[in-house]
Amino acid sequence: MKKIMIDLDDTITTGGYLDIVNKYLNTNLTYENINNQYWVDNIIPKEKLTKYLNYLYNEINFYDYIKINDNAINVIENLSKYYEIFICSAYVDKRDLKNCANLIIHKYNWLRENLPFINPDNFIFTSSKNILKTDIKIDDRLSNLKENADLKLLITAYHNKNISENELKENNVIRVNNWNEIANILLKN
Ligand SMILES: [Mg+2]
Repeated sequence: MKKIMIDLDDTITTGGYLDIVNKYLNTNLTYENINNQYWVDNIIPKEKLTKYLNYLYNEINFYDYIKINDNAINVIENLSKYYEIFICSAYVDKRDLKNCANLIIHKYNWLRENLPFINPDNFIFTSSKNILKTDIKIDDRLSNLKENADLKLLITAYHNKNISENELKENNVIRVNNWNEIANILLKN
């Protein structure tokens, strides 16, 4: 059975931070004009950052604010019949090393609840995704698709829309816009 490593945030799910930031700052910001994944750093005023991170990691569950990408769950359940699925998700936030690990329990619980057909032994929580070798990788960050996979799929997200076809080609990465396109590639036989 071939192995697929699938990212969680902005791959299976979408959003989260924008709603949280809007609630925290009492703003109505939208994803338009946001093309950098680290945009939160620029939006939260420096003097409010410590308090915001405490709010993010100690007071709320990030996964109460996300949406699931269309058909992500169905497609992954189908894929799990033909491939061994690993979910790999980062949690380390260098701005708040003390509290960021609280994310792990929320990630774990969300995965158990929403992907009950995946063996929890196959949940991997790390930022060092490139050291892991699987046949196929699916992620929204090109930096996570550098090494150790035969087929690498970049799922379109607000922050990666401007990555050129050339750059993807150089990295041997194929862009997919949604989970139906992933199903078409991986379930066509
Ligand atoms: Mg991601």
